[in-house]
Amino acid sequence: MKFSTKAVHSGYKPAKNTSDNVPIYRTSAFIFDNTDFAADLFSLKKPGNIYSRIMNPTQAVLEERVAALEGGKGALALSSGTSAIFYAIINICKAGDEIVSSSKLYGGTYIMFSSILPEMGIKTVFVNPDNPENFDKATTSKTRLYFTETIGNPVLDVSDIKAISAIAAKNNIPLAVDSTFTTPYLLRPIEHGADIVIHSLTKWLGGHDNGLGGIVVDAGKFDWTDKKFELYNKPDASYNNLMFSSLPDTIPAFITRMRVIPLRNLGACISPDSAWLFIQGIATLPLRMEKHCENAMKTAEFLSSHPRVKWVRYPGLKNDPARALASKYFDRNLFGGMVVFGIDTGLKGGKKFIDSLKLISHVANVGDIKTLAIHPASTTHSQLSEKEQENAGLMPDLVRLSIGIEDIDDIIEDINQALKA
Ligand SMILES: *Cc1c(COP(=O)(O)O)cnc(C)c1O
Repeated sequence: MKFSTKAVHSGYKPAKNTSDNVPIYRTSAFIFDNTDFAADLFSLKKPGNIYSRIMNPTQAVLEERVAALEGGKGALALSSGTSAIFYAIINICKAGDEIVSSSKLYGGTYIMFSSILPEMGIKTVFVNPDNPENFDKATTSKTRLYFTETIGNPVLDVSDIKAISAIAAKNNIPLAVDSTFTTPYLLRPIEHGADIVIHSLTKWLGGHDNGLGGIVVDAGKFDWTDKKFELYNKPDASYNNLMFSSLPDTIPAFITRMRVIPLRNLGACISPDSAWLFIQGIATLPLRMEKHCENAMKTAEFLSSHPRVKWVRYPGLKNDPARALASKYFDRNLFGGMVVFGIDTGLKGGKKFIDSLKLISHVANVGDIKTLAIHPASTTHSQLSEKEQENAGLMPDLVRLSIGIEDIDDIIEDINQALKA
């Protein structure tokens, strides 16, 4: 099946004379046929449903669908993009281990890496991803994971995934990529060597500002038998002394462990209702992304030609520093739905602009069908120090727009009147 067909069909084939649309399984638990069957499920000898904290048939459709869109071997949906990132990390790293990460991150992820993980003994070395060699230079004998975003927050730089994954492969370190801003419609990191792909489903995949969720996709190709990955190479006392590196090839080790260890025991599961909402959203992802990207390009071009606008960053603009990498990696000549810019009156002008918007919503979200605006330095990235904001490339005057699917004339009219104000 091609992409748009997968977005509608993957992961669900109705049994005879049953629901045509994916049903919501609003249940906490599942009936076991008999005690032997229950034992086989618990020891992973047979696949099947146990309890909705660990799996649910509605969630399973969502997972299979996103895995198909990304070209992965398996996926795990969670309660938010944030929990997806956290569980992916603690499914590889333990106290004493290190991560090498891009410094140009989503604000919440930056705080997780810089403030929360160190309390658990996991250190992150932040590097400028514009030079992929920086990942190599920051690697030590304790490094267990590389992390980057396809389009970095907040200035919309594009990661050279192929170059970073080549360094990851050389050092036998898995590469995790947060692909929220591109979605699999624009870019599939696994095709360029990534081992793990993470999304906030809350954003473009869901697309309708109606639920929180996250998902992790496992490429299923990383070799976890290297002894430095301790979590995979000792019998796990919390799970029948299973050694995850010795699972057969048909059971992807990373995503299986993530389900039965972090998710089962820490519990940030997705609700079946949210999973169902994301299934509805993903069906129209190709249509929405076409419109998001078309409108974003026109908005960026309008802003570029406006006399009061000092600077604009959009990976699709001909002279944008990210344009070359975006053209290399993004499909269909589409460049995403995010545009950032600064006004000639600086911080004060940016705040006045946001307060003057009429149609465009002032919210912390991105990736919605509605056009959204925010001033990151005083909101999403306000917990970062001035130095950290500078390292992340965040200018105090930066205004962030997430362009929706409304009529472009109305979007531009609202921006124009707010610029006048
Ligand atoms: C929103 C977002 C997250 C966090 O996802 P939530 O669903 O809000 O927890 C992580 N990374 C990126 C790039 C995001 O945009």
